[in-house]
Amino acid sequence: MLEVLSVASEAFPLIKTGGLADVVGALPAALAPHGVSMRTLLPGYPKVMAGLEGGRELSVLDNFFGGSARLVAGRAGGIDIIALDAPHLYDRPGSPYLNPSGVDWSDNWQRYAALSFAAYELGRGLVEGYQPQILHCHDWQAGLVPAYVRYNAPIPAKTVLTVHNIAFQGLFGWEIFNGLRLDFRAAGEQSIEYYGRISYLKAGLQTADALTTVSPTYASEIRTAAFGMGLEGLLRARADSLHGILNGIDTGEWDPAHDEKLVQGYSVATIADRQRNKDALCARFGIAPGKGPMFAVVSRLTWQKGLDLLLPLCDSLVAQGATLVVLGSGEPGLEAGFRAAAERHPGRIGVQIGYDEAVSHLIQGGADVMLVPSRFEPCGLTQLYGLRYGCVPLVSRTGGLADTVIDANAAAVEAGVATGVVFAPVDQDALDEALRRTIALYERPGVWQKMQRRGMKSDVSWAASAEKYADLYRDLLGIERDADFDD
Ligand code: ADP
Repeated sequence: MLEVLSVASEAFPLIKTGGLADVVGALPAALAPHGVSMRTLLPGYPKVMAGLEGGRELSVLDNFFGGSARLVAGRAGGIDIIALDAPHLYDRPGSPYLNPSGVDWSDNWQRYAALSFAAYELGRGLVEGYQPQILHCHDWQAGLVPAYVRYNAPIPAKTVLTVHNIAFQGLFGWEIFNGLRLDFRAAGEQSIEYYGRISYLKAGLQTADALTTVSPTYASEIRTAAFGMGLEGLLRARADSLHGILNGIDTGEWDPAHDEKLVQGYSVATIADRQRNKDALCARFGIAPGKGPMFAVVSRLTWQKGLDLLLPLCDSLVAQGATLVVLGSGEPGLEAGFRAAAERHPGRIGVQIGYDEAVSHLIQGGADVMLVPSRFEPCGLTQLYGLRYGCVPLVSRTGGLADTVIDANAAAVEAGVATGVVFAPVDQDALDEALRRTIALYERPGVWQKMQRRGMKSDVSWAASAEKYADLYRDLLGIERDADFDD
């Protein structure tokens, strides 16, 4: 088996703020059939330490980024975890990244440098009998790992960095440099510098052996000024090392036939049973049952997600007979905007501000349309859950949304390949038009149900992508693809 250490700041089911956690949590099981044994290194947040089953100490790290720490191995949700138990860094309530006032913890530079350094130490063979061959790093929080490998004492492991969202770059002032334990040569080169500051993401992009991002379209987009957020030049220079590998979903966790968070399970053959979930959803969100489609949002409420474009269209949606449920949290202006829309339209618009995993499942299993009008979307998972649950996705044509949903234009409907509604450009007029088109499609039950069924049957699993990751690992290690990997 190939030994891979996945390094991330969150993983479902222990700690989740977004899609990153779902992906990190799903990868180990997805990769196992491809001869990959994956352990996942996580910060020892309270939820991680509490959720760890059968924890056993692997190593003690004295004087570790301002305190003493331990590496503790255990299992959770069927995956092998190594937790970096460092109470001075992680034993804090609430969000992993933000303090109770909603601002980044001021020592985040140290919290994630420590995570990355621990990965490097594991790669150096810190724990007897455990030698990862690949360090697979996720996002800026693990971005320093390849930099440690490049500049500190060399280690045998190869590095892969996956960009889940290039908007988050881990930017800090140079005053932190001496606290990083990064060889001083790193300061003399361009690798970690980003417009006068240090960027953990750029450090990783510059130094990892291979780069991946979570969809082919996003892999192209981030090489352009419109999407690269200042890193497009570097990504163009490293184009040969950059791979777009589409995210899949955990089809066990997200299975409408066996989802205990639904009121009623269903399959393609029993799709009419969805109605019971819709009824429950109506009750939960105070929506009066009616004839029109029920649109839904399950999202971080941020500029990225384009939901400010939806707000002014709420009145028109209701006027057309549709209803809307929103589950999300984020920017105060958007939260207030959706609350106000719900107050204007009691019984037609329902809003729950906050994070609620169970309700997110019920929405997928009961609503008619999953709205994802993002300005940019590296992959997006909610449209994939939507496909699997017969909650038809309405998405903007960007990133992974463009790669996963086939627009119901006349030709696609005729050919029987449509799985949702796709619009561009990402502006209010185009969204308005897409909402109207969706309502018109909903009014043709035959067409609509075919679209639902097709989505439910489409392959949103990890099967194809897991193989691509496994191939990439083997390429880096110079192992033949078809070699017998059991040793
Ligand atoms: P991102 O990672 O940019 O937030 P994704 O679509 O990739 O977007 O993943 C979002 C994940 O977070 C999905 O699993 C979605 O169901 C979940 N999610 C987002 N907001 C909420 C919420 N308020 N309550 C429950 N789950 C949510």
